[in-house]
Amino acid sequence: MLLPREQPCRDIPWKILPRKQSWGCALLPMILVWETMKLELPNSVKKAFEMLDNSGFCGYLVGGSVRDCLLEKTPLDFDMTSDATPAEIKACFSNYRVIETGIRHGTVTVIIDGHSIEITTHRREGNYSDKRHPDEVMFTKNLDEDLARRDFTMNALAYHPQKGFVDLFGGIEDIQEKRIRCVGDPRERMNEDALRILRALRFASVLGFALEEETQKAVNEACEQLKEISAERIAAEMVKLLCGKNVKRVLLEETTVLGAVIPELLPAKDFDQKNPHHCYDILTHTAVALENLPPTPHLRWTMLFHDLGKPATYSRDALGIGHFNGHSRQSESLAKHRLNALKLDKESIAKICKLIKYHDTVVEPSKKSVKRWLNRLSESLFRDLLEIKRADVLAQSLEYRFRLDGLAELENILSEVIAENECFSLKDLAINGNDLIAMGIADGPEIGRLLKHLLENVMDDEVENAKEVLIEKIKEIKQC
Ligand code: ATP
Ligand code: MG
Repeated sequence: MLLPREQPCRDIPWKILPRKQSWGCALLPMILVWETMKLELPNSVKKAFEMLDNSGFCGYLVGGSVRDCLLEKTPLDFDMTSDATPAEIKACFSNYRVIETGIRHGTVTVIIDGHSIEITTHRREGNYSDKRHPDEVMFTKNLDEDLARRDFTMNALAYHPQKGFVDLFGGIEDIQEKRIRCVGDPRERMNEDALRILRALRFASVLGFALEEETQKAVNEACEQLKEISAERIAAEMVKLLCGKNVKRVLLEETTVLGAVIPELLPAKDFDQKNPHHCYDILTHTAVALENLPPTPHLRWTMLFHDLGKPATYSRDALGIGHFNGHSRQSESLAKHRLNALKLDKESIAKICKLIKYHDTVVEPSKKSVKRWLNRLSESLFRDLLEIKRADVLAQSLEYRFRLDGLAELENILSEVIAENECFSLKDLAINGNDLIAMGIADGPEIGRLLKHLLENVMDDEVENAKEVLIEKIKEIKQC
């Protein structure tokens, strides 16, 4: 992603020159290299720069795309900021498809060679009386003002292929130091828009960065204000946070802050399970298990909640061993309530709740049992259940790792059942409702009952899944 600049760039504005006095000597050479790097950009983005330049305007790449390029990660999207007004941007790209994405806020999307590039007029913002949105947004010709309204120094970098980087707040140094630091006064910035609290934690999880001390203090102080942020925005940040490679550390170190959006986490912290299966308290177990899963949102949500019902179901036997009877149901109910409140889509909630419900149920390693599970869950959800069980075991006491063998055996049986095209759902049955009606059985609930009965017989290998055999079986049942 990064190419060394072929020639020294003479027109780098003064403001991107390193703030030498604040840097340790060891860091300096590296930062200078970064500052004089040339980013390798897609042709569509290069074209957008050219078009703006040719019309007498100036555009800069800004925000996440600059940060990600410096981290040698492929940016999700390329956002630009420009001194052109939305009307001027539209005129400048009149030969291209332009979508008025948020014209009131100065954003238009330009489609170049099939790629969307968001171009937003430099903006400055008024007060934030609702703790989320600025009361007014004003266009400005001044890039500095636009950068100053951004959340973190690493997100307040701008880049132009000829002019180089604009780094007013030490963002490059912070990226190098893996540090999340607010632009300006952290308390003010968190109070303006509480979503930034969760964004800070999300970046910590995704990038593996740490919060700078004052930013951390501001996050802690302002966390109750997260309650004023819309459910959808919280859910969107939480998903990214949960799927981050450093979710364990964030979950354990920022429990109180996260508790402002998911209060069910709080009783799990430091909850000693007093059970030989467990070497961790409930929250640490959850955090370790989360990192043993692929970064798939519904799996991560499942793991976050899978044991949160434990504190409410805790009991100790005569030997002092802790038990959590019915915790899966309790966790399922907590998840259902919270995820509905966070307005997750119904399909995901249903999947997550099923996985939580069965996460602790023993699956017998036999073909019959696997077919019944496939019938109950579908193939993909059963695979998810095995994935959850595997990650769960990996976060338990070492003595119980032998359970991984059982899970591997289940995987093998599953592969066989699928490879052999075994029947485990009504659609796989060699007979259907119309066949039964043709046999003279009245259309109605009895059809469903009979088909279900046949399917169970087939799954248990009591009857062959062949049409003639099933018809005979129906006749037999009807005679009884
Ligand atoms: P991602 O990789 O998730 O897209 P991003 O940093 O690009 O991360 P976006 O939500 O796409 O995040 O926002 C683009 C840019 O807008 C950010 O980099 C930042 O400069 C600015 N920004 C976004 N949200 C805020 C906010 N709540 N407060 C201040 N600036 C923000
Ligand atoms: Mg982005």
